Amino acid sequence: MPRTPAQSLRVAEKTGCIFRYALRLTGAIQGVGLRPFLYRTAASLNLTGYVQNRRDGVHIEVQGPWTALHAFLETVTHHPPALCRIDTLQWNEIPPRLETTFQILKSAQEGAPLPVLPADAAVCSECLREISDPLNRRYRYPFTTCVHCGPRFSIIETLPYDRPNTTVKSFPLCSPCLAEYQDPLDRRFDAQATACPACGPRLEGFDPRGNLLATDDPVLLQAAEMILQGKIVSLKGLGGFQLLADAAQEEAVARLRLLKDRDEKPFALMFPSLEELLKVVSPTKAEIACLQSPESPIVLIKHSFRDGQKQALAQNLIQGHACIGAMLPYTPLHHLLMQKIRRPIVCTSGNRGNEPISIENQEALHDLREIADYFLCHNRPISRPMDDSVVRVVDEKRVMLRRARGYVPRPIPLSRTLPPILAAGPHLKSTAAFSMGDQAVLSQHIGNLETAKTDEAYRRIVRDYLSFYRIEPEGVACDLHPDYLSSRFAESFAQERAIPLIRVQHHHAHVAACMAENRLEGKVLGIAWDGAGYGTDGTIWGGEFLICDGPRCERIAHLRPFPLPGGERAIHEPRRSALGLVREAGLDACHLSRVFSGNELLLLDSVIRQRTYAPLTTSMGRLFDAVASLLDLHHRCTFEGQAAMALENMAAQNAADGASSHPPDDRYPCPLIDKRPWIADWGPMAAAILRDRDLGLSLTRIAFRFHQTLAELAVDVARKASLPRVTLSGGCFQNALLLSLTRRRLQEEEFEVYTHHQVPPNDGGIALGQLWVAGLSRELVKL
Ligand code: ZN
Ligand code: ZN
Ligand code: FE
Repeated sequence: MPRTPAQSLRVAEKTGCIFRYALRLTGAIQGVGLRPFLYRTAASLNLTGYVQNRRDGVHIEVQGPWTALHAFLETVTHHPPALCRIDTLQWNEIPPRLETTFQILKSAQEGAPLPVLPADAAVCSECLREISDPLNRRYRYPFTTCVHCGPRFSIIETLPYDRPNTTVKSFPLCSPCLAEYQDPLDRRFDAQATACPACGPRLEGFDPRGNLLATDDPVLLQAAEMILQGKIVSLKGLGGFQLLADAAQEEAVARLRLLKDRDEKPFALMFPSLEELLKVVSPTKAEIACLQSPESPIVLIKHSFRDGQKQALAQNLIQGHACIGAMLPYTPLHHLLMQKIRRPIVCTSGNRGNEPISIENQEALHDLREIADYFLCHNRPISRPMDDSVVRVVDEKRVMLRRARGYVPRPIPLSRTLPPILAAGPHLKSTAAFSMGDQAVLSQHIGNLETAKTDEAYRRIVRDYLSFYRIEPEGVACDLHPDYLSSRFAESFAQERAIPLIRVQHHHAHVAACMAENRLEGKVLGIAWDGAGYGTDGTIWGGEFLICDGPRCERIAHLRPFPLPGGERAIHEPRRSALGLVREAGLDACHLSRVFSGNELLLLDSVIRQRTYAPLTTSMGRLFDAVASLLDLHHRCTFEGQAAMALENMAAQNAADGASSHPPDDRYPCPLIDKRPWIADWGPMAAAILRDRDLGLSLTRIAFRFHQTLAELAVDVARKASLPRVTLSGGCFQNALLLSLTRRRLQEEEFEVYTHHQVPPNDGGIALGQLWVAGLSRELVKL
């Protein structure tokens, strides 16, 4: 038994002697400057001992008078380096030794490498100060970085994380850089990506034919001029190429939309600084904290522009959207460029349509030559593609919408140890997941597996993680849908290696993902509301209430099914969902004759009667679409979720207009019929919505009532399930109002509500759920 600090103090007071502690730290501790920090702390307290990276964490032995040891522990636990996250700290008292210094020992090589790898981080304030200081040797140098900031995962090629294993290995350090790199008292000690103008990577500016136009600083000037002239510039960022255009120029935005084949989907914006951003929108404290965090994601922020009003942003950027996706510069390169442009720019991934983001100069010059007028490149290679992450803040808490740069590959701690598994993920917004002991690693967002290029990128990324972490999977998990490319990949992978394949139903995986990240064991009521997932009965699910318990799952309630004429085409035509809904409930809706031609109606009605091309669905996403069409918000849309977003915005206006209070009975009828599984009959609600519409009730009020009805539905089912814990998952919970209302109502009824924070509620989190279910399934659990 180690002595308690108090006992040690008493002994110390009696004997005045020296103590020695052995400590072990785990967490995000590699590549974050922990060792030099420990060295400096120990040296300042005149302590001796050593620190060493080992397979199971950072090991420290430290020796000296008790008061100094106490101060050391205090500093380590309460003031660690910026990017360091200590998960556990164990300490033991051990016999003192004869020694006179504190040393940083070489990493122990035995066993598997440390699995915790640092994610890329936004440039720190000290590095920013250096690049703005004309007297500093890194003045205006776009690749300035130190141990507290800069590229990590996007430059690592293999483990352990040391300079020779990164893409900067081809830049030998000059002598001043080497001196910093080797000096434990310097901020750049062991900063693997460190560089300076004399020895590091350089900027290169190309025209679309690949002619080199400039190098170094003039490249920034040329790129800034092009953007201000309304041209499109492709910039090589941290995790891949981006496309930039002046956010104030409609023509530039229109051209970018046309070339990227992106009619209305919102674009992310980069602002030169927080001050500039505050001139345009009013983010909350939590939103500002997200914007300024080392992860530096795109943050969705509500704006209050009125259509037609003149403002700093082009109309075709913001029209139809209640939020803008804003971010701040996160590399010195972005900062230097934005200082020249001094106004917001569109900053979107450098790819076409659904293809993966380009990471190599030649590839980008080829793939983007028809889109970009100028290429702001450099010669530091990117080791793997990584999009910008996207988050939203709901009730002051972060909701992840797209998890990539800044967050990946931070592991997700699990409540128990799983065998090594590969989870192949879903079809849309795909990611893959891997288990390593009691933690999971979720890959970056890869994209929709709909093109050969994305499929190829997906396979490359899966292989990358397997070899990187040296994982030998003992099982593979995939979706129940037989035709998903990810499912097919999983099948052949399992066959090749003769390991079990475990198929996990889509919504079960959604719930399991929420359980895994919240470390929930035992029974929960999982509410999974989303667009579409293949159900165990072969129909399309999406408005599901599941009782989940480890690998087991029972569907206890769902939306009343309705036909989707034309199947997947309904995703782009909310009017088809509306037609299915109206026909299923036998309602009289004159609006249909306005949104369909007579012939279309005849054809679609026969499709519905024959059922072959009108699959049944219980999808909540399609119910949102149907209601949006009934309210004439959208009959067609250019991206999935557009109609649902419009409905959310309508309802949010009602909530914001402060319709002073919203009694829970301000809802539509949506009774639960039958028995386990109960069926939530939206029929009476649809009828009431049409009636309210005809009576001329405001659309914002109707939209709000619709949201409130769903929150009350959650409460009704939760009462029937009578389990204390409820999880909320699925793409519909990207809807801030729905998430907020549902959570609040369930909490008011004394349920414990769990939601997503580390992984997205949308399909981007599915792989984690597949991993969790497979890991607990009988095929893999060793008895
Ligand atoms: Zn820095
Ligand atoms: Zn140098
Ligand atoms: Fe889903």
